[in-house]
Amino acid sequence: MIVGDGGAPIEKSAFLVENGRITAVGRQGEVKTPAGAARVDLAGKTVMPAMINVHVHIGYEGYTSWGAGNYTPQNVLDHLQREAFYGVAATQSVGSSPTDESIQFQRDQEAGKFSPASRFLFMPGMAPPNGGPDAVLLKGTQALHAVYEVSAPAEARAAVQTMAGKNLKSVKIWVDDRRGTYPKMTPEVYTAIIDEAHKHGMKVHAHATTLADQKAVVRAGIDVLVHTVAGEKIDDELVALLTEKKPYWTTVIGLGDRTELCDDDSFAAQTLPAAIVAAVRATTEARPLAPSCGPPSPNASRREEMLAYNLPRMIAAGARLVLGTDAGIHPGYTFGSADHHEIARWVQLGLAAPLAIVAATSRPAELLGLEDMGALAAGHRANFLVLNANPLENIRNTRQISAVYLDGAKIDRDALLAGWKK
Ligand SMILES: [Zn+2]
Repeated sequence: MIVGDGGAPIEKSAFLVENGRITAVGRQGEVKTPAGAARVDLAGKTVMPAMINVHVHIGYEGYTSWGAGNYTPQNVLDHLQREAFYGVAATQSVGSSPTDESIQFQRDQEAGKFSPASRFLFMPGMAPPNGGPDAVLLKGTQALHAVYEVSAPAEARAAVQTMAGKNLKSVKIWVDDRRGTYPKMTPEVYTAIIDEAHKHGMKVHAHATTLADQKAVVRAGIDVLVHTVAGEKIDDELVALLTEKKPYWTTVIGLGDRTELCDDDSFAAQTLPAAIVAAVRATTEARPLAPSCGPPSPNASRREEMLAYNLPRMIAAGARLVLGTDAGIHPGYTFGSADHHEIARWVQLGLAAPLAIVAATSRPAELLGLEDMGALAAGHRANFLVLNANPLENIRNTRQISAVYLDGAKIDRDALLAGWKK
């Protein structure tokens, strides 16, 4: 058993689940079984906590179409079921989900109105008018008014107060100009957002992709840094800021990677319609943010070099890595399989496997305030993956999924797959 807290795994473990929660964890022979308990033999398997994804864009993907028209509770649930299929117990949609519909969805999910799925969390976005999401995501968020558009500090504070009034815990800001297509959010505005959010106990997630912007938002006190600096090496000034502020950091590297569908990877392909897989594989010209299976882009090797330089240094400096994927923008990089891709990339870039698992389990639980999730311990929800191989030996073994349990119940993965293949 990998507990998820970074400690040593428990060999020959045993654990007890009652009413959806873990009530005892230990070695075989130490855990006392109540009379009448059902026993599940997991000999030879590895158990790890279900993962938690702090950054996706849920609801717009329809697999044969993409857009606001697809944003229904049923489609949100479908995406959460895809995350659950791949072993993700909680999934946070960031800056792209409409507020009131999402609050209603959370209430309904909590009330047990939906079939088992990853637990839904969300936050609204804030950006200058017509700013924020990239050109694809923008088509969805504008139609559904998922982003609060603000251009002055007072307006920004009022928007945060509205969110706090709805009991929202987080907000996303974009500090970017989408390749010069709109004026970037000013420091005066984001400083006001951060200050007002913190007054209300809310966390601020900041999209920033350049070294200068990452420094600026970390210095201003954001809680979660989103994206990597992919085009240049980080410097001592950012390292010092990370050491001082210790923000959470979600890399969402995978969206820029060549999709595994190109190599006919059945782990990624299994939940997608065959037509989508075939279409992605047949696409050989480069398309921004969309998967293609042509030759690598001219800057791919430089990007790789920068990631390999920056990722270990960001973490060593104090950035608190958490799992996020940006899934939902395009079918080639989609819900659930993307989570496994992301954590394997961290390890490929130099992170130790046990730390990758912490960053996918207990640390995102800590960030999201999910106190009974993210680790396998007494009192926690029984959310776990049963694996046929040990991911501490090879991180890609997280893909060797034998079963996924959420709140103590085994997910019917075969039934989900059969539904998606229709
Ligand atoms: Zn995103």
